[in-house]
Amino acid sequence: MSVTVQTMDAGSKAIAGETLDALRAKLRGSLCVPGDEGYDPARTLWNAMVDRRPGLVVRCLGASDVVNALKLAREQKLLVAVRGGGHNIAGMAVCDGGLLIDLSLMKSVRVDPASRTARVEPGATLADFDKEAQAFALATPLGINSTTGVAGLTLGGGFGWTTRKLGLTVDNLLSADVVTADGKLVRASQDENEDLFWALRGGGGNFGVVTSFEFKLHPLGPEVLSGLIVHPLDQARELLPAYRRIAKEAPDELTVWVVMRKAPPLPFLPTEWHGKEVLVFAVCYSGDMKAGEKAVQPLRALGKPIADVVSPHPFTGWQAAFDPLLTPGARNYWKSHDFTDLSDAAIGVVLDAVSNLPTPECEVFLAHIGGAMARVPADATPFPNRDAHFIMNVHTRWRDKAQDQACVAWARRLFEATAPFASGSVYVNFMPDDEGDRVQKAYGPNYRRLAQIKRRYDPDNLFRMNQNIRPA
Ligand SMILES: Cc1cc2nc3c(=O)[nH]c(=O)nc-3n(C[C@H](O)[C@H](O)[C@H](O)COP(=O)(O)OP(=O)(O)OC[C@H]3O[C@@H](n4cnc5c(N)ncnc54)[C@H](O)[C@@H]3O)c2cc1C
Repeated sequence: MSVTVQTMDAGSKAIAGETLDALRAKLRGSLCVPGDEGYDPARTLWNAMVDRRPGLVVRCLGASDVVNALKLAREQKLLVAVRGGGHNIAGMAVCDGGLLIDLSLMKSVRVDPASRTARVEPGATLADFDKEAQAFALATPLGINSTTGVAGLTLGGGFGWTTRKLGLTVDNLLSADVVTADGKLVRASQDENEDLFWALRGGGGNFGVVTSFEFKLHPLGPEVLSGLIVHPLDQARELLPAYRRIAKEAPDELTVWVVMRKAPPLPFLPTEWHGKEVLVFAVCYSGDMKAGEKAVQPLRALGKPIADVVSPHPFTGWQAAFDPLLTPGARNYWKSHDFTDLSDAAIGVVLDAVSNLPTPECEVFLAHIGGAMARVPADATPFPNRDAHFIMNVHTRWRDKAQDQACVAWARRLFEATAPFASGSVYVNFMPDDEGDRVQKAYGPNYRRLAQIKRRYDPDNLFRMNQNIRPA
């Protein structure tokens, strides 16, 4: 039976049953159409705001499946989306009507403790990676939510608890296997296809489908000094300027993110604080425990915390600490700015907004970056915002569709109000789907080179379901 699939020019095309059977016969994985088993898991993303129905899904089990799926897409000029872990806020890992190349079943992680490297398939989550690498007390910098996909995170840059010590995720990428738009499987590294390798380290899914990532690993853990220090939000006007000084002077090993939200019912918080606005310092020290205790001391000495649960924790556990607040299935909308500094005025604007959160699950994150990542030249990879010291993510989250407008409007208001204090750049992986016109700004001076490399590797813009870089 034929299936109607959307084409790149927004038209549609009937793909004959024989064509589909021929593709099916070549696949190691499976071909799904609406109603088939596997169709819904493949199209369901972390952000429940996104509910798209592809015409055809190839659930890949290897690079050959990607090659075959892309061959059909090229020949029939189909709209293509590429899905890794399915976590991106913009939800462009799935397209409506087109061909979805689903990589989420490719989860292999192979660690080589001798060479301190890891080979990772594009469906692996941070938990998959960390569990494997931590068996050997090794790690590479990744994000803070263990269900996030390694693939999308890496292709956008990637930062987390160890970035100040070890750099961005892309600073630790050694090579990648990529199926390019013309269907060839190539290796990209410092010595092979160097321009493609450069573009992959922050340029998103614009240049091909990565079927394997090779990372450098570093000794870490298995325990790290980590945990939360929780204060009443009404102390934040005094605490945040002190935090700003501590964050500035922090050794590379020390990372302290700030979370402002209503307190979840955590067992170590007195019940009278559950549901009340709090300021949380989320602390991780990527080094020696004793040195960590000393480094954290000035932060611990601030104010009168409601709780302080900073102590040695398994790194894999700490990497999953925020998972319960970030489960899939909720409606989400994000807005983000980079900051080189946090002025008192910016702090005031954020705190006013946090006193009026539209739903109990909304929060504002201030990621603490810098250190090793800031010592890499801005043109060494596409990720240009190396001098950002804080990344604010306005994270609006709710359950009821009726709250869509109020939540999105709240995030946009805070975004506008903090814009005068921001540096102008933005982390491409924190951009929602309505910020296509911000892509050039996100890459700043690196955009031109990205557009030139895009022209070479994807002149027809086959890979367009992403924060799109147009071929020069
Ligand atoms: C709860 C949560 C917490 C987060 N925390 C952090 C954090 O701490 N640090 C951080 O850096 N980021 C963080 N992020 C952002 C995260 O990096 C991005 O959402 C990232 O895109 C997720 O990758 P994924 O594979 O799950 O995404 P997907 O949605 O599957 O993919 C995103 C895009 O990447 C492209 N893509 C994916 N896989 C491939 C591939 N193999 N080849 C080519 N293109 C591909 C596609 O264009 C796709 O649209 C967080 C996101 C969430 C939702």
